[in-house]
Amino acid sequence: MSCQPDELKKKNDELSAQWRAYVESPSFERFVEFAISVSSFADFLNNKGLSGLLQLARALEQQVLVLLNDGSGEAIPQDTLDDLGSRLEKLAERIASFIDGNSRPIVNRRVQQETPVSFDLTPTHRIWFIGNSVEPWRKLITQLGYFGIHAEVYNGQNIPAEAEEPAIVLLDAADMALQEASRHIQALRARFSASKLLAHNLQSDFNDLKAVLGAGCDFCFVSGTPQSAILARIIELCGSTEEDPYRVAVVEDSLTASIAIQRTLKESGIESFAITKPHEVLTGLTRFQPDLILMDMFMPGCTGVEAARVIRQHPEFLSTPIVYLSGDANMPLQIEALRLGGDQFLTKPYNPVILNAVVKSKIERYRALRRSMLQDSLTGLLNHLASKERLAAAISTAAAEQAPLAVAMVDIDHFKNINDSYGHPMGDHVIRSLAWLLKQRLRKTDIVGRYGGEEFLVALPGSNAEQAREVLDRIRRDFSLIRHPFNETWFNTTFSAGVSHFPAIGNGEALIKEADEALYEAKHGGRNRVVMRG
Ligand code: GH3
Ligand code: MG
Ligand code: MG
Ligand code: MG
Repeated sequence: MSCQPDELKKKNDELSAQWRAYVESPSFERFVEFAISVSSFADFLNNKGLSGLLQLARALEQQVLVLLNDGSGEAIPQDTLDDLGSRLEKLAERIASFIDGNSRPIVNRRVQQETPVSFDLTPTHRIWFIGNSVEPWRKLITQLGYFGIHAEVYNGQNIPAEAEEPAIVLLDAADMALQEASRHIQALRARFSASKLLAHNLQSDFNDLKAVLGAGCDFCFVSGTPQSAILARIIELCGSTEEDPYRVAVVEDSLTASIAIQRTLKESGIESFAITKPHEVLTGLTRFQPDLILMDMFMPGCTGVEAARVIRQHPEFLSTPIVYLSGDANMPLQIEALRLGGDQFLTKPYNPVILNAVVKSKIERYRALRRSMLQDSLTGLLNHLASKERLAAAISTAAAEQAPLAVAMVDIDHFKNINDSYGHPMGDHVIRSLAWLLKQRLRKTDIVGRYGGEEFLVALPGSNAEQAREVLDRIRRDFSLIRHPFNETWFNTTFSAGVSHFPAIGNGEALIKEADEALYEAKHGGRNRVVMRG
């Protein structure tokens, strides 16, 4: 798992400590602290992709929020407290056994399927297929092998009792009654805390899907879903799910208020940056690049609305959400604030749980919107414009840090032939395969974009040209060994790449041009090679 066991344990201990603090001396404030802690724990599990534990934590969070929203001011009845306590215990037990299971070596690991790739790729993820027939899945399993995802196949009866937790379990419900499928999902959910549970070949029926999701399934596919869509979802799930922490700029003249807000945000794992003088807001935002701005309404010499108006002149912050905080529930002012590009208005004293919930939901939507603007829809990589922007930003960072940076243009060889011989959809599939391979092999900090049809821009901050050449050459070799299945047979294909590097060349346009020339050289030198410049 991507999460360290002691990190998980520490988080759970914090949650238990908040609960004990509340039980020992109950007060509304303590309950609020506990509620924040539950919310933040659920976010942590979500971020780490611990699907089963997350489902338990989310159920707990719902119960806590209902109690918090009750607002009757009356003490929570003893039986409700007991119920909460036992849910917490159950969660702690699941966590303890999960940590234990992930620290023990697995003796009885069963491998049924030969890794169907002809190159040495260490499998990074394991997937179980459970179903009555393996035949329909052969092609998908072969494809997964190319991406280092190792499949094991079981029918309902021979699932090993002792095995390392797989990243994904896919249940094929083709010949199963709904109850049987739900029962399988329930049993798997009770057993696996981190695995993502997928079910396929379900009826496209509201009640069927509701039942399977209710049993603990994470994703459902109805009958007729193409295997390419299932492959895409599996690859996505195996990719890095960890998001960068949310970033909030707190524009607030009162230092005390600012510290209190930052503390609240920190409890939910949100990073923040305080700007106490309104006239410093633009430089602060440029430096910190927040996902959201929390704006005080009244500051000396400037209202929050005036500050927002200035911020909105800057194209970079045109869509950054702004949430206003004010001690005054003045409706005309609120309406004016919202009209000028504010997203929400919260009155002080704010409820910390609501503040965090508002901030998180606004940031989630903002990030989703940005993603859709920046991503290429076929591959999920950065699109042309976004790759160039990211490259420009990476060059400024490299210049500031006096660090090297390598740039590569990658282009599939004789791609027209692939379209002509196997059809356009197969061509798309090859493009996607290379996109995924690049994404999987490069670091999170590297830039990978789809620059054009079957051409990719790659930038490796911190790497010199020789290091980049080595990395790309390994990827080149592995890509050339991937067997793309076509009807009953398969074909291989290759790519060429040209590499240039900073600081030998000092700006983005010139780096791309130089890499392009190196690529041209690679094509003329016979293709299937990486050529380095400078
Ligand atoms: P070379 O080795 O010299 O690169 O030869 P090539 O055939 O790959 O030549 P070129 O790069 O000029 O051809 C790119 C072709 O890719 C042309 C276009 O029809 C096709 N193409 C562009 N975008 C897409 C796409 O999104 N999907 C598919 N299937 N084909 C595309
Ligand atoms: Mg103020
Ligand atoms: Mg080409
Ligand atoms: Mg091309």
